[in-house]
Amino acid sequence: MKIHEYQARQLLASAGIPVPAGTVIESVEDAAGAFKQATAMQPSPLAVIKAQVHAGGRGKAGFVKLVKTAEEATAAARFMLSNRMKSPQTPAEGLEVTKLLVASAADIAQRRGGGNEEFYLAVTTDRKTRRNVLIASREGGVEIEQVAHDRPDAIIKEPLHPLLGLQRHQATTVAFALGFRGKQVAQATQIMAALAKLFVDKDCTLAEINPLIITPPTARHPDGEVLAIDAKFSFDDNGTFRHPDIQAMFDPTEENPAEAKARRFGLSYIALDGQIGCLVNGAGLAMATMDIVKLHGHGKGGSGGVEPANFLDVGGSATEEAVTEAFKIILSDQRVKGVLVNIFGGIMRCDVIAQGIVNAARSFVNPDGSKGFKVPLVVRLEGTNVDEGRAILKNAKAEVPTMQAATDLADAANKVVAAVG
Ligand code: ADP
Ligand code: MG
Repeated sequence: MKIHEYQARQLLASAGIPVPAGTVIESVEDAAGAFKQATAMQPSPLAVIKAQVHAGGRGKAGFVKLVKTAEEATAAARFMLSNRMKSPQTPAEGLEVTKLLVASAADIAQRRGGGNEEFYLAVTTDRKTRRNVLIASREGGVEIEQVAHDRPDAIIKEPLHPLLGLQRHQATTVAFALGFRGKQVAQATQIMAALAKLFVDKDCTLAEINPLIITPPTARHPDGEVLAIDAKFSFDDNGTFRHPDIQAMFDPTEENPAEAKARRFGLSYIALDGQIGCLVNGAGLAMATMDIVKLHGHGKGGSGGVEPANFLDVGGSATEEAVTEAFKIILSDQRVKGVLVNIFGGIMRCDVIAQGIVNAARSFVNPDGSKGFKVPLVVRLEGTNVDEGRAILKNAKAEVPTMQAATDLADAANKVVAAVG
């Protein structure tokens, strides 16, 4: 589960990490008021308007804007609420923006060599070392992905002890390596400790601050202040039942509608970018099916090759209705040019699946109003009641003319790739 930046800021603030104040608005009319509120305490008004969507890369996409007047705030809000946010982290069609954060803009200190004092700080799990790890960089901000790619040495990774977590000496070492000096060191180490603790306490898979910044020196803070001005959290779905506060942050409008529908029918569905819809029972078999589609589809059917359009596990005990729903979900994706059904009947009976396929084919309504499957369908059945299942499919051949039977997994993958290629 993911949350919005404004919610992430609440979590940070509750853990004692300093974050500039802000409010959330949902309409253009509220922008001017929110701007005035955010800048009331400042000598020269400056606020930042930020689209609240579950994806990063907003800055480069024009969905983080610094504004100096209520008019500019209104214009920025109008732009963000009427355009979809597109970045490398969103689907190609972008994300709809319904909420905006209007926050006091932080003054960011400049480095001697030029550039902002922006840092990257995160805690996540490193599967390679099987430890949680603190990740930090002096090169934070909107270019962090590029930095990680081009100059991996600019990224500090500090493994965390499974029981002791982030230790004080580690935080201090990282703070100095990042270039913090004077009173900044204590502020930065306190922020790292709080972030590492939040990560464990809230069952996170990612707790990230990017950027963490230093403000220019003032009389009250001669070394400047260390502040978090953007944050991102992801949580382990298996742990959220322990955290009613996190559950309350769930925003159903940010969910992929097909994924939400699948969940209601007990199906595990993840949308991907390819052309082959996959309907499989069992997560392991679903993964193997995706692999084999990718293997046999490599270099076929135009530029990017033929690839799976989704991961769909109908589970071990799916009903005919669930199978019918699964087909509807797969075929509602306009990118799907063919469907591969791969079933190994253990508890699941092949005749139930076969009947589900035939029912779905009978009742399926195409966008143009016509009935029946139009896309090629390749079915591989094996296991309990396989003969009955194959007989049902054979008898329904006239009703499902685009269907082919496959003998094994490689045969199935080759047939479906050939049918769409
Ligand atoms: P994203 O990570 O989605 O691009 P950020 O919130 O990190 O969005 O914003 C991108 C950049 O905008 C930051 O690196 C920073 O330079 C600037 N920025 C964001 N929030 C503020 C703020 N409160 N005050 C000043 N500058 C900001
Ligand atoms: Mg950011």
